[in-house]
Amino acid sequence: MSQIPSLRLNNGTEMPQLGFGVFQIAPEEVMLPVQSAIDAGYRLIDTAAGYGNEEGVGRALQESGVAREQFFVTTKLTNDEHGYDRALRAFDGSLSKLGLDYIDLYLIHWPAPAKDLYVETWRALEKIHNDGRARSIGVSNFTESHLRRLIDESGTVPAVNQVELHPRFVQSSLREFHAKHGIATEAWAPIGQGKGLLEDPAVREIAGRYAKSPAQVVLRWHIQLGNVTIPKSSTPTRIRSNADIFDFELTESDVERLTELGPPERIGPNPDTFN
Ligand code: NDP
Repeated sequence: MSQIPSLRLNNGTEMPQLGFGVFQIAPEEVMLPVQSAIDAGYRLIDTAAGYGNEEGVGRALQESGVAREQFFVTTKLTNDEHGYDRALRAFDGSLSKLGLDYIDLYLIHWPAPAKDLYVETWRALEKIHNDGRARSIGVSNFTESHLRRLIDESGTVPAVNQVELHPRFVQSSLREFHAKHGIATEAWAPIGQGKGLLEDPAVREIAGRYAKSPAQVVLRWHIQLGNVTIPKSSTPTRIRSNADIFDFELTESDVERLTELGPPERIGPNPDTFN
């Protein structure tokens, strides 16, 4: 497998463009998939306090024998941890569950606009970053208007916004906003949670032409758009094949075809109403 390329974030740190997501993997089951992912060459691991599996992720990292500085560990603050003091405590909790002394990327998981606390929470993340305990800080599921407010009121541009993004939910205007402001776009549900998207006839036709799987073609599309992408799998063969996407390149017209695939379909909650 070729090496996973990195993107440079707006604070100068490097982030691998492909990582491993662990949403919906039970705490007692998470170690094996993380070990498979590490063996397959993944170094970015994406977890969250809300996934309940930070301890298992931390244990898998420690037992891997790979040096800490080789990893890029992301975790996230849950919706009931908004607010300055709560966010500081939440971060301490995640750090201790992961068994680490710093996090590579700490994210606000959802803006939870009805709470109206995300700017205050962000100030806690700025402190955590200034103290060197999170190398980078960012957000997740922020819309353009949440981002504008955060930047206007704090002056700190998030390094990353992790959002739902796949060929049926391409987030074109948000990606443009990110590019203009130097925010890296990170795609969750990158293969549409493994459901209908991978059976789409156009995706299958493109995959056939490159002798790749539908998932590989969709993940390659993310890479060529410049996204960071974090597919999840509990299946070792899929974990390996999802990372085997650096030995081919989609033509511009295939990239466009995937971008225009439609019909638009959001899988997860709407960030404006999810609190
Ligand atoms: P994904 O798009 O990564 O899809 C995961 C599903 O696809 C699993 O059911 C998996 O099955 C299946 N799958 C994986 N590889 C293949 C393959 N090669 N062929 C066919 N099916 C496959 O969805 P996620 O929602 O898990 O998103 C990825 C990550 O993004 C999460 O794990 C999490 O880290 C993050 N995330 C963040 C959110 C946020 O709010 N910030 C929200 C949701 C996710 P199996 O495991 O059985 O192999």
